[in-house]
Amino acid sequence: MEELLKTIIDNNRIWTKHGKVASYIPELAKANPDALGIHIFDLECNEFYAGDYETAFTIQSVSKVITLICALIDKGKEAVFSKVGTEPSADPFNSIIKLETRNSHKPLNPFINAGAIACTSLVSGDNGIEKFERVIEMVKKMANNPNIQVNFNVYQSEKLTGNTNRAIAYYLKGANIIERDVEDVLDAYFKLCSIEVTVKDVATIAAVIANGGITPWSNERIVPKEVNQIVQAIMMTCGLYDASGEFAVKIGVPSKSGVGGCIMSVVPKKMGIAVVGPALDESGNSIGGKKVLEELSEKLNLSIF
Ligand code: GLU
Repeated sequence: MEELLKTIIDNNRIWTKHGKVASYIPELAKANPDALGIHIFDLECNEFYAGDYETAFTIQSVSKVITLICALIDKGKEAVFSKVGTEPSADPFNSIIKLETRNSHKPLNPFINAGAIACTSLVSGDNGIEKFERVIEMVKKMANNPNIQVNFNVYQSEKLTGNTNRAIAYYLKGANIIERDVEDVLDAYFKLCSIEVTVKDVATIAAVIANGGITPWSNERIVPKEVNQIVQAIMMTCGLYDASGEFAVKIGVPSKSGVGGCIMSVVPKKMGIAVVGPALDESGNSIGGKKVLEELSEKLNLSIF
């Protein structure tokens, strides 16, 4: 397997030259555009990796999966889906337009920024700090890594420049989707996006989801079965921004990307996969990461369809 992963990384490294590192959060512009790495964690706890698997990056929108898990556990699906929808969006991740034009003002789904900010407000905790702690503890548990922390520089950079997210959050407050103090919720959201991880951490998180919500290493249920199913369905339909349909056709497994260059993929009952490649395509997905997953899915016949 390691040989195969190495070959796939080598075959696709050239694609990193066709993408661009995210720069709308200035600190993210410092990432290495040439990096490309992969880590697989299978349900027998075998681990395989290749390329720049040691690269640290911020989790960004992949955190939205864990925020959704916590919101569903803490408040239940009726409460969550009364505030956030479950439909894919053909608009960019930070788009604000549908909030106004839809009758309910509900964000379309939990993985666009508006939906994730609403889910952050739903997570248990009396304030932003407690909400952040709730989600990062879940990240650490699912990644089996107690040392995971926030990258302070990225957090500061997000906070300083996150005006579109601020506009989204205030709109949601006006529409009664967010009940809490807006700045407090935003602070938790910015910190959650700035959690620093490696592909090993993310592949381990994906393996828990692939294993039905149970840790493959200690056989402990940490995500209820129904929550685990809901999250995978939304990853499949909404996980790759406005390129989710194309990704379902070409790769065919529930996945979530982030502008830090990570894509987390869940192969149900088989394995968790994470790739990193900070050079992004026009939809904000890792350009090299997508190509690596495409070749891997074809070679290992991973599509669930
Ligand atoms: N922190 C980023 C933002 O809110 C996350 C975006 C992403 O990864 O899609 O703009």
